[in-house]
Amino acid sequence: MNAPQPKPGMPTDNQGDRYLAATHEVVNQPPALENYNLYEQDIALQEAVQREGAGKAESDLKTFGALAGDAAIIDLGFRANNNKPTFNTHDRFGHRIDEVDFHPSYHELMRLAFENGLHSSPWTDPGKGAHVTRAAKYYMHSQVEAAHCCPVTMTFAAIPSIRKQPELASLWESRVLANNYDPRNVPDSQKSSVTIGMAMTEKQGGSDVRANSTLAYPVGTNGPGQAYELVGHKWFVSAPMCDAFLVLAQAPGGLSCFLMPRWRPDGTKNPWQIQRLKNKMGNVANASSEVELRGALAWMIGEEGRGVPTIIEMVAMTRFDCMIGSSAGMRQAVAQATHHCRHRSAFGSQLIDQPLMQNVLADLVLENEAALAYTMRVARALDNQNQEHERLLARLATPVGKYWICKRTPNHAYESMECIGGSGVMEDCIMPRLFRESPVNAIWEGSGNVQCLDTLRAIHKEPETLDAFFREAAEAKGADRRFDQFLAQLQNDFADISDVQYRARNLVDRMALTLQVSLLLRNGDKAVADAFCASRLQSNGGMNYGNLPSGTDAAAIIKRATPVVG
Ligand SMILES: Cc1cc2nc3c(=O)[nH]c(=O)nc-3n(C[C@H](O)[C@H](O)[C@H](O)COP(=O)(O)OP(=O)(O)OC[C@H]3O[C@@H](n4cnc5c(N)ncnc54)[C@H](O)[C@@H]3O)c2cc1C
Repeated sequence: MNAPQPKPGMPTDNQGDRYLAATHEVVNQPPALENYNLYEQDIALQEAVQREGAGKAESDLKTFGALAGDAAIIDLGFRANNNKPTFNTHDRFGHRIDEVDFHPSYHELMRLAFENGLHSSPWTDPGKGAHVTRAAKYYMHSQVEAAHCCPVTMTFAAIPSIRKQPELASLWESRVLANNYDPRNVPDSQKSSVTIGMAMTEKQGGSDVRANSTLAYPVGTNGPGQAYELVGHKWFVSAPMCDAFLVLAQAPGGLSCFLMPRWRPDGTKNPWQIQRLKNKMGNVANASSEVELRGALAWMIGEEGRGVPTIIEMVAMTRFDCMIGSSAGMRQAVAQATHHCRHRSAFGSQLIDQPLMQNVLADLVLENEAALAYTMRVARALDNQNQEHERLLARLATPVGKYWICKRTPNHAYESMECIGGSGVMEDCIMPRLFRESPVNAIWEGSGNVQCLDTLRAIHKEPETLDAFFREAAEAKGADRRFDQFLAQLQNDFADISDVQYRARNLVDRMALTLQVSLLLRNGDKAVADAFCASRLQSNGGMNYGNLPSGTDAAAIIKRATPVVG
């Protein structure tokens, strides 16, 4: 029987002689958001880098921006998440190995981060703009894949704590700061580059580390720099293949901080045994684990009984990175949402031109710009810790910002997903990953309430921190009547300390907003600052994104944030 002949104009196969059942042409879909420069396409980031003192890094940041937007690098992020780490307790002969196997794409992302100094640059090349430059790079890198940034952060953050014990620092610091990432599971004595993790959290203790039950027994002499054996457990240990960990344990003189390598100096495995991996809802490219310490050899850092003040130096830096990471999650969500709406039409025009979508998109952009402005201001404070105002500001602005920015991210991720519609829910785009990642920063490194209580603690211990905070905020006084009223009311409310713990979230929310508004008014784009004041300092009763008042220049705000690709 002869095949049916195509009618004129009908699609055929490439021999042109057979009818094909072509159903439709794919139209009205955006191109993939890839092969773009994450720096050059981000006006708010460029402005922040200039403003906060890292202008000299511009060309370096452009190069890094191109790398972070490369399709092949973006693909690594997907592969690392589609291939979760696996865990083996023993090898096939029955030897205990405690080995977590990560996908090669995870290691490739780690290598990129290390080669670009995301774990080291402010320590190896300190000075004007050092933290700001690193923060800008981390902001871009984390948009590709956030989970592997956890060990990058911990390695970076460990330095101030390790430096508290100079003889240990001399053994470890140069290898912690080295840029040649080395994932081999071999004794650290065979490595010129190492990674560092942290192990504080226990089952019964959690945030209240004073309740930790892991014990530290002196091997010989006790005290700073001396060897101890640790016996106990840890309920959360992320990146358990790190070469060493900062661990909190109870020494005879109280809770102390220890540096615990995964291998002993004689090349045998330290008895630090991984029980199982956590079954996480987000951050899945990285492994987190439960661990038992069965006499693991470790060296005390800092004074005996001063474990919290010692490790808090590390924790402060990890909290700062949570701010960068959550701001970055918002930026990637905004980039995806604005890009999609620019290319997608519905009911006769592009989504990005439709008034209601403009209200939602502009509102999402505002949240991201405010988060970035705040984060980069703290980065500048970290660059200038020798100035008293900057030291006091960083002390208070870190818990306030960690609380606020991380907590604003989950709803932002969800709203951005909704801008993309049904395709935004699908696992082959980045939105579900951004959404699953979004609560993690808020919970680890001290959850929301813990940050609010830390804010109160800082003010109680050093009231000058609050003065510095208000001094900084007041720089924008007179620029906007709504801001002046908001600031005055907040200052007034601090005069009343009754019920202060109960009211802490309210106070910290308003502190964060005050500093964000102040920064936007002083430095930001006028349309952004106006709209932020109108929507964050005054209420029109609306509760969701998309409640910007009439008269907002939404198109201008969106334009700043929309990547031009395709
Ligand atoms: C993915 C992931 C990875 C992690 N990796 C690590 C790691 O590598 N190393 C490590 O040490 N830990 C790690 N953690 C643990 C993390 O830091 C803790 O989960 C977190 O600090 C909260 O402690 P918790 O879970 O014990 O909760 P809890 O301490 O029981 O707190 C529960 C809730 O109570 C609130 N709360 C606590 N105290 C007060 C109070 N006084 N007043 C009011 N509210 C309060 C907290 O804010 C929180 O909302 C990780 C956690 C996650 C989710």
